[in-house]
Amino acid sequence: MKKNQTFCLQCGLPLVGRADKKYCDDGCRNAYHNARMMDANRICRPYHRSLKQNYGLLAEHLHAGQDVVHKDELLLQGFDPKFTTCMELLHDGTMCYGLYDLEYFEQNGRFIKIRKAQLPTPPRWGR
Ligand SMILES: [Zn+2]
Repeated sequence: MKKNQTFCLQCGLPLVGRADKKYCDDGCRNAYHNARMMDANRICRPYHRSLKQNYGLLAEHLHAGQDVVHKDELLLQGFDPKFTTCMELLHDGTMCYGLYDLEYFEQNGRFIKIRKAQLPTPPRWGR
């Protein structure tokens, strides 16, 4: 075996040709990437589903003009508070949670206030 021999990331066979080659051929390259994407999809899918369900519930209430909802009602409808897309501590000490373009926070310990996200202005990237 030659020194610095490299092997196909997919099938493990010794590679011949360019030093930076990673796969035998297009078949091995595609198989390798497909397997990685399948892993990513398998792991991400349940999270996406829960985020989408939470978002759908909040959006439905907001669309119906109900911007304050009892926590128990949301929980009964399947809202899972573990799934948010961001969180931010407001100036008054309230923790505000984000779900895409919506945000929500507790009011009086029993209610959830829902509103369109008031996204902060992104920083300017300049020199
Ligand atoms: Zn291969």
